[in-house]
Amino acid sequence: MNALLIGCSDGRISARLDALLREVGAPDANRLLVPGGALPLTRPGAERRVALDCIREIVDVHDVRVIYLVSHQECAAYERALGGLGFDQKELLERDLRRVKTLLETNFPGVDVRSYVIPWREDGEGAAYGPAAPVD
Ligand SMILES: [Zn+2]
Repeated sequence: MNALLIGCSDGRISARLDALLREVGAPDANRLLVPGGALPLTRPGAERRVALDCIREIVDVHDVRVIYLVSHQECAAYERALGGLGFDQKELLERDLRRVKTLLETNFPGVDVRSYVIPWREDGEGAAYGPAAPVD
């Protein structure tokens, strides 16, 4: 399967990740699930190098043409990394997704990167993750 999903390892979003992959016609996509998803790729140094090595391995072996880069709100890895709540999570996630998209497209010129955020929704029905929404 020549697609790769990069997302957070948080099990609470797994159904939304599956739904997204079905929707885009890539249910058997390769998956790289790590805390924060794109987060390690935003950090210079060893973390980013290891993450890029893993991605390069998958891209080369499976001839990956599309990477689905998915972040989510209420992400514990992001909260830890940033020392707690109190930041504009959506804005920050989208900023990181744009930066990482550029990084990936620079490192893997033949690959198309598509970014998404899985929103956390609270309403009269309760609180839950909503469907993944594309980020430009
Ligand atoms: Zn997370």
